[in-house]
Amino acid sequence: MNKDIVSLINNYQEFILTSHVNPDGDSIGSEIALYLFLSNLGKRTKIINYSPTPSNYTFLDKDNVIEQFVEEKHKDSIANADVIFILDTNEYSRLRTLAPYIQSSNAKKVLIDHHLGFDANGFDYSFSDTNSPATGEMLFRFFKNFDGSNSDTQPIGNIISKPMAEALYAAIMTDTGSFRFERTGAETHNIAAELISAGAEPDKIYSEIYNKATIGKLHLLGKFLNRITLEHDNKLAYSIVLQKDFQETSTDEYAIEGFSSHLMSLDSVKLGIVITQTLRGVKLSFRSNGEVMCNNLAKEFEGGGHQNASGAFVPGADVNELTVKVVERSKFYLKQS
Ligand code: 5GP
Ligand code: MN
Repeated sequence: MNKDIVSLINNYQEFILTSHVNPDGDSIGSEIALYLFLSNLGKRTKIINYSPTPSNYTFLDKDNVIEQFVEEKHKDSIANADVIFILDTNEYSRLRTLAPYIQSSNAKKVLIDHHLGFDANGFDYSFSDTNSPATGEMLFRFFKNFDGSNSDTQPIGNIISKPMAEALYAAIMTDTGSFRFERTGAETHNIAAELISAGAEPDKIYSEIYNKATIGKLHLLGKFLNRITLEHDNKLAYSIVLQKDFQETSTDEYAIEGFSSHLMSLDSVKLGIVITQTLRGVKLSFRSNGEVMCNNLAKEFEGGGHQNASGAFVPGADVNELTVKVVERSKFYLKQS
C-alpha cells in the first residue's frame, strides 16, 4: 500500500475522500484521519459523503469539513479531482448517487477497505485487507510508514497528531465492537496503545460515541427487545423495528445501531438479524458467531459485508414477507456451521 499511495500523494494536489451510505465510526474516523494527513501535507482535500454524519460522530469533525453530496454543488470537483479515495467499502453501489460521478471522473480511484467480496474492477489502485478489523487500522499502518524512514524509532506523536489519533481510535474501537470481535488481536491492541500515546482518550471517545442515547432510543430498544423471536433450535434470534416505532419514539433509523448485540448476547444464538422497515424498503442487519457465514446470507439479498457482520437493503420489500424468507434461508447457514 505504501509505495503506490506515497507516489500518488507526492504527484497530485486535489483529493476527494468518500465512504459508504449510513457511515459508521470506521468511515468517519478513517476519512477524518486521512483528511488531516493530506491537509497537513498541503493537499487540497474534500470529504464528500452521500449521507449526513450521524450526530455521535460529529465530534471527530471538529472543523466541520465533511460535506453531504449535492449533485450541482459537487459534480465539477468530483470530475476534476486528481485522486479519489473510497474508504471502508468495496462496492460502488454503497456510494449511492455519488457512484456514477466518481466512476466517470478522470481521477485515480483508490480503494482502501477490509470487507469480503472485493473486486478490483473499477479501481485504479486497491488495498483490501480482510484480516484487518478496521479501515482505520490499515490507515494507521500507512501513516506510520509514510516517510519511509525507520518509524519505530520516531515518537508516534510526530507522525500522528492528536486529532488523527482520536479519529483512528474511534474507527478501530467501533469496528471491533470495542475490542471484542474476532479479528481483534494483539496487534490491534498495540495500535490502540500507540494511539493513546498520541493523545486519544478512550473514555472520552467511548462516551462521545456510545453514551448519547435519548429516552426515545431506549423506548425503541424496549419495543425491539419485546419482539425478539427465537427459531431453529434457538440458534437464530431476530427482531423487527417498524416505521411506526420510529414515529412513536421520535427516533430515526440511526437509533438501531447496537441493537444486534442484544440478540447475540443470548447464550444459544449463533445468528442474529435486525429487520428494519424504512421508508424506501427493508434493511437487514446480520451478526453471527464463528463459522456462520452471514456475508453469504446477506448476498442472497443483494448485500454483503464480513463473515460475522453483514447487511443488505431490499428496496420496496414487504417487511413480513421478507422476514419469513430470511428466517427460512437462515436455516441453511446454521446447518452449514
Ligand atoms: P450493519 O448491520 O452495521 O448496518 O452492517 C454491518 C456490515 O454489513 C457493514 O459493515 C457492511 O460491511 C455490511 N453491510 C451493511 N449493509 C449493507 C448493504 O446494504 N450492502 C452491503 N453490500 N453490505 C452491507
Ligand atoms: Mn469498517
